[in-house]
Amino acid sequence: MLLNVENLRVSYGAIKALHGIDFQVDEGEIVCIIGANGAGKSTTLRAISRLVNADAGSKMDFMGKDLLKYQADKVVSVLGISQVPEGRRLFGNLTVTENLTLATFARKDREKIEQDLERVFALFPRLAERKWQKAATLSGGEQQMLAVGRALMSGRKLMLLDEPSMGLAPKLMMTMFDALKVINDEGTTILLVEQNARLALKFAQRGYVLENGNLVLEGKSSVLLEDPNFKKAYLGG
Ligand code: ATP
Repeated sequence: MLLNVENLRVSYGAIKALHGIDFQVDEGEIVCIIGANGAGKSTTLRAISRLVNADAGSKMDFMGKDLLKYQADKVVSVLGISQVPEGRRLFGNLTVTENLTLATFARKDREKIEQDLERVFALFPRLAERKWQKAATLSGGEQQMLAVGRALMSGRKLMLLDEPSMGLAPKLMMTMFDALKVINDEGTTILLVEQNARLALKFAQRGYVLENGNLVLEGKSSVLLEDPNFKKAYLGG
């Protein structure tokens, strides 16, 4: 098992966002967490990245190591977990190439960086054409590609994706998911959160369903897609 989460609780002041959730991700898998607005999807990813604190009693192991002992920067540089946040958070004044190389600041394998940069440009030719363009002037879809590229540059073990489909036109969405499939085939495990349940389950092998901070359903994508309650709640009947 790559990631094991037990009894994960997160609060923002008096607001309890996660009420003690359990889930696992195996090496090489693509797993999705599905849920409506405010269900706690982003919070789950932020807890793994250590960008928000987990409440006492929460347990998270990554490759047998206690994730809660690592600070956010070490989660990326030591453990190889990278996050593609909702809203992308790129450096708008820096170029595409600068955004990508900045993500590697903590890496020890300097000699591989150039190779990885070429890999990102091969996966996303649109970025290659825009190497010297400032990130702020990229289209929304191109910014999303750059955010994924940046995550690939910073850590390769586990990629956490927050709504990768958001704001993308259908054609770009296909490009994005094709690229993510290649990234997964090359050995990066993927955990993504999505509101678009159908899309997420087409892409992932397994899914968890989050409602109001609780996991209410889990299973293989093919099983969830046929579950009558799930269909009614998340697939429009
Ligand atoms: P969406 O699909 O709308 O992005 P989500 O499933 O990702 O939703 P979260 O962003 O994890 O949901 O939010 C879970 C709950 O925690 C929500 O009720 C939200 O209002 C609350 N919350 C999130 N961030 C904060 C914060 N910084 N301060 C206070 N409450 C927060």
